Amino acid sequence: MADPTAIAAPEKGPDFIRKIVAEDGETKKWGGKVATRFPPEPNGYLHIGHAKSICLNFGIASEFGGTCNLRMDDTNPSKEDQEYVDSIAEDVKWLGWKWDGEIRFASNYFGKMYEYAEDLISKGKAFVCDMTADEVSATRGTTTEPGKPSPWRDRPTKESLDLFRRMKAGEFPDGSKTLRAKIDMASPNFVLRDPVMYRILHAEHHNTGKTWCLYPMYDWAHGIEDSLEGITHSICTLEFEIHRPLYDWYLDAINEGRAEKIHHPQQIEFARLNITHTLLSKRKLLELVQSKTVRGWDDPRMPTISGYRRKGYTPEAIRDFAKRIGVNKFNSTVDFQLLEHCLREDLNKRAARVMAVLKPLKVVIENYPEGQTEELDAINNPNDPAAGTRKVPFSRELWIEAEDFMENAPPKYFRLTPGREVRFRSAYFLTCRSVVKDAAGNVVEIRCTYDPATKGGDSPDGRKPKATIHWLSAKHAVRLEARLYDHLFSDPDPANNPVVNPKSEEIVQGWIEPSAAGAAPGTKYQFERLGYFSADKDSTAAAPVFNRAVSLKDSYVPPKA
Ligand code: ATP
Ligand code: MG
Repeated sequence: MADPTAIAAPEKGPDFIRKIVAEDGETKKWGGKVATRFPPEPNGYLHIGHAKSICLNFGIASEFGGTCNLRMDDTNPSKEDQEYVDSIAEDVKWLGWKWDGEIRFASNYFGKMYEYAEDLISKGKAFVCDMTADEVSATRGTTTEPGKPSPWRDRPTKESLDLFRRMKAGEFPDGSKTLRAKIDMASPNFVLRDPVMYRILHAEHHNTGKTWCLYPMYDWAHGIEDSLEGITHSICTLEFEIHRPLYDWYLDAINEGRAEKIHHPQQIEFARLNITHTLLSKRKLLELVQSKTVRGWDDPRMPTISGYRRKGYTPEAIRDFAKRIGVNKFNSTVDFQLLEHCLREDLNKRAARVMAVLKPLKVVIENYPEGQTEELDAINNPNDPAAGTRKVPFSRELWIEAEDFMENAPPKYFRLTPGREVRFRSAYFLTCRSVVKDAAGNVVEIRCTYDPATKGGDSPDGRKPKATIHWLSAKHAVRLEARLYDHLFSDPDPANNPVVNPKSEEIVQGWIEPSAAGAAPGTKYQFERLGYFSADKDSTAAAPVFNRAVSLKDSYVPPKA
C-alpha cells in the first residue's frame, strides 16, 4: 500500500531499470536489442499514472535505440470498447511518442495462445476443471494452509483436451468450466496454486467479434504477447512482482520439449505513480463519468491525459514531470504541486500574456475624452522578446478586477482606494477620485483621473506606484466564460476519503481583450495576474470559454533527497 505521507524524492542518475537495460546491452543478453511495450487494457481513458509508464517504456526505447510497441491488452471483452482504443492511441501520440509499426492487439494472438494451451494440456501441465469460480476460490487455501487440489486435477489428458476443444466450440455455458495450470496447490505464492488460464464467456469482442467464447486470463496471455512481439524488457508495476514466477513458469512450460524455443522476455517491476488529491484507477474514474460527477473522461478535473490536455497542460510539462519523479521500487506519493510546477515552468516560457477580467468592476476616467479610443502597445511575453508586442484598445470606460479596489483599505493594500495612484499595465497611471454606489450601498463604479504624461506605464518625473493592475476597455472587451478549477478531491488521500469537492469547478462570466477572444481551442495564455488559461473545446470567437490550467502562485517545495 502506498504511504500517503511519503513524498517521493526524484532519484539522481539513471534509474534501476535503465541500469539493467544498459547492462544487458553490454553483455549482449538480447543480442543488443531493446524492445519494450506499453500494454493498456482498453477499458477506460489513460491517466497520469499511465503517462509515467508510457514515458518509461517509450523513453527507454528511444534512449537505447530500440523500439516500443503500443499493445491493447484486450483479453476482457465485457469492459472494452473501440472508443477507448482510439483515445489511448490519441493520448500516446499527443505525449509525443511513436510506436513501432501498427497498434498491436492481444486479441490477434488468441489463436496462438489457444495452440499453446493445448500443448500444455498434452504435456500434462494443464487440465479442464469443472468447479465454479466460487469453488475454486474456496479451495485456494490460506497463508498457513495449502489449497485443496481440484477433483478434476488428474483427469486424463485426452479427456481435458476433448473438453477444452468443446469449450472452444461453445458447448458449455459461462462459468461452468475453466482451464487451469497444474502447478502447486501448496505453493506459498497463491498465484501458483493451479491458476485459471481460460474462462468461458459468450461475449462479443470489439476486435474478434463472436469468434471466441473462451477468453485467456491476464497471466497466461501477457507473457505470450510479450514473447510473440520479441519484447526484451517487459516493464510493469510492482503488484505484478508476485506474478513473475507464473510469467516465467508459463513460458518455460511452453518451451519444455520444444525444439524451437519461443522467446522468453524479462519482467521488471517498478512502483506505480500516486499523486496527492488524485485517484488513479480507471474503475473509479469510470464511476465519476457514469455518475456525471464530471463532464466526461476529458473533464479538466480528471487525472486523465485527455483531462489534463483539456485543462491546458502541455505534453512537455507531463514529460518533464515523468522525468522528475523518476522510477523506483518503493510505492510513495508525489505532491500534486510538482505537476503544477512543471506546467508553470513550461507555460511561463511559451504562453503569451493577455488581459482578462474575471470579476469586473467599472472604472470611468473623468478626464479622458468621451468617444476617444487609442491603441496601446503591450508586451506579449517578457521572457521571449521574439514574441513581440500587440495593440490593446484603451478608452474612457474600463473594467478592472473588483478585488483591485477597496474603499476602506488596510495599510498594506496598495491597489485602488480613494486618493491612491496606481499603474494600469501598459497604459497610464490612474488616481481614484470617488465611488458610485447603488441603493444598497455597494460600489458599482469607480471614478478616476489619468495622467496623460504616463503613457506606456512610466512617469517622466520618476513616480512609482506600488501596484500595477490589469484592465480592459469596456466597449472593446469580449464576454468570457472562465472555468476555474480546484482539486476534485479535497482530501490529499482520496482513496481513504473519496468525497468530491463541491467547489472543484467555479464558472465565472468575465471579459477578455479582443486579441485573444477568437483563439482556437487549446491555445494557451497567461491572463495577467490570474494564471495560465487554455481555450476550451466549447470555445467560439463569439463566446470564448477558457479553463484555468494553473494559477500563477508556485508553492512547490522539493522534498529532501
Ligand atoms: P487502472 O488500475 O487504472 O485500471 P491498470 O494497471 O489496470 O490501471 P492498464 O491498462 O492495465 O491499467 O495499464 C497499462 C500499463 O500502465 C500497465 O503496464 C500498468 O502497469 C501501467 N500503469 C497503470 N497505472 C499506473 C500508475 N499509477 N503508475 C504507473 N504505471 C501505471
Ligand atoms: Mg488492468
